Amino acid sequence: MKLLTSAPRGTQDILPKDSYKWRFVENLLLDQASKFQFKEIRTPVFEHTELFLRSVGQDTDVVQKEMYTFLDKGNRSITLRPEGTAGAIRAMLEHNLCNENLPVRLSYIDSCYRYEKPQSGRWREFSQFGCEMIGSSDPLADAEVISLCDSIFKRLSLNETYIEINSVGCPKCRGKYYESLKEYFEKNKDSLCNTCLSRLERNPMRILDCKKSDCLKIAENAPSILDFLCSECKEHFEEVKKYLDVAEIKYNVNPKIVRGLDYYTKTVFEVISMHEGSKGLVCGGGGRYDNLVEELGGPPTPALGFGLGIGRILLAMGDLLNFIPQYKACDVYFATLGEEAKTLAFQLANILRDSSFVVECDTLNRKLKPQMKYADKIAAKFAIVLGEEEINSKKAKIKNMADSSEKPISLDNDFLKEFFEIYTDFEKNKLLGN
Ligand SMILES: [Zn+2]
Ligand SMILES: [Zn+2]
Repeated sequence: MKLLTSAPRGTQDILPKDSYKWRFVENLLLDQASKFQFKEIRTPVFEHTELFLRSVGQDTDVVQKEMYTFLDKGNRSITLRPEGTAGAIRAMLEHNLCNENLPVRLSYIDSCYRYEKPQSGRWREFSQFGCEMIGSSDPLADAEVISLCDSIFKRLSLNETYIEINSVGCPKCRGKYYESLKEYFEKNKDSLCNTCLSRLERNPMRILDCKKSDCLKIAENAPSILDFLCSECKEHFEEVKKYLDVAEIKYNVNPKIVRGLDYYTKTVFEVISMHEGSKGLVCGGGGRYDNLVEELGGPPTPALGFGLGIGRILLAMGDLLNFIPQYKACDVYFATLGEEAKTLAFQLANILRDSSFVVECDTLNRKLKPQMKYADKIAAKFAIVLGEEEINSKKAKIKNMADSSEKPISLDNDFLKEFFEIYTDFEKNKLLGN
């Protein structure tokens, strides 16, 4: 068979054998966020390009190399969202949510797009869960957001993840730090990659983010932002740590964490997985971005948030995924012979479905034997065979597929009542181990 085409590089199809795992994790994420009063927002997959230029930052890898940007038929520059924060903040401002109750707490599950080299744990289309909390400058808000993140990993039984935190300061304290960084990197200029050389003038902190081994080595001994924090930023960071300690949330301070985006101020953090199959991968992270709301045209409003890669979480979960409850099994399979039987099965199936049972009917006009084989294959609990005889007598047999025992069942008004009795009996016996 020669297929017309396959899925584009860096994308993945999530098949029914796996999709329930995604749904389970997604529901858990939104549910955990709702305990902290975060409410779901849904924003468009594409936005005007300037939104990301301004928010994510011109100097970042994301904007320079990774965005899916194109002109639409109206000659407007459109970009598929590379992350979720910018769109959420844009929507919040557009609909004046911050004029209502502060803080605004938003959660979302977004498909995001980055033109990256596909590799383990990295896709060009990926699913991101995020939370944004807008309106509080208090260190408790930072601790709360980190605590939410921590509680999610605990709920998922991902015990081999750890949190690294840092403060990237504010524009005030960063001025001196940039000077010191520049001076340091100037001295080691010869070993820096070309991208980092271009960062040297405009945004030297970005060099700490470079993954090239030479740059990493130089960055190792670079001055630490923590030595340059102004008193306000320093106090803020101390308070955040104090709250985390009180909540017994484990973390390491790592002054090398700057996150890949330009909008962060003060607290930043990352969650790193040490689970088999995702060792060393960053499952997510976030931080405070006190200037972003203003950058996007809103009033000066402190804010913070985080994002988690759902694909990476599933990767980290490995064998734990086997414990996720699967789709409800088929309760009843209707095997039918002839048009009249098909019609009756269709009606009875809907009666059962209205009572929350999972039901399937034959739609391939197969002979009886392959139909029963199919019922077995899908692990149906019961099968009801309908043919001419059953229709005429308004009586059928319902077969327990596990032990092949049969019971009579009426096909008239008593059908649902009798089915309930049989089903309850079946569940009771199962509980008793019969
Ligand atoms: Zn500062
Ligand atoms: Zn570099």
